[in-house]
Amino acid sequence: MVYLTFDDGPIPELTPILLDLLDEYGIKATFFCVGENVMRYPQLYEEIIARGHRTGNHSFNHIKGFATRSTEYFDNVAKASQYISSDLFRPPHGQITRKQIEMLAPHYRIVMWDVISYDYQQSISPENILRIIRRKTRNGSIIVFHDSLKARNNLLATLPRSIEYLHAAGFRFALL
Ligand SMILES: [Zn+2]
Repeated sequence: MVYLTFDDGPIPELTPILLDLLDEYGIKATFFCVGENVMRYPQLYEEIIARGHRTGNHSFNHIKGFATRSTEYFDNVAKASQYISSDLFRPPHGQITRKQIEMLAPHYRIVMWDVISYDYQQSISPENILRIIRRKTRNGSIIVFHDSLKARNNLLATLPRSIEYLHAAGFRFALL
């Protein structure tokens, strides 16, 4: 099993294409949404749910844990929860302090990842992204791509081939 996750959306420039792509392959994924984006594009959020995917909370405006006081961090996640109905939380930038974990843990399952595609880096080539996916994915891996403008080209160039590789390698796709 592998868990495909998409962070930072939804956005009109990418999410609809991504949803069609996942449908083509018959794959369900988990979308860690930014509350501000869901507020702006509620119909995209509804579409994610309608297509059978899962959503998670990724804070209201992609806040950095290490630079934010714990109460403020908690309030930011709570604000996002007005738009995102989920008991999953993924800290933006992977930044979260022990205190922030303590505050959120009673309400959320905090989900990190073990395979990061680096799709948001303009300097990385699609070949390198595919190499990372091939080399790092194990049974139970949580793979992160980004539903964002910065990642758009890399995502569209590598997701179909990543999925095809993972299928061929015998992995099945599960929801968190
Ligand atoms: Zn993020």
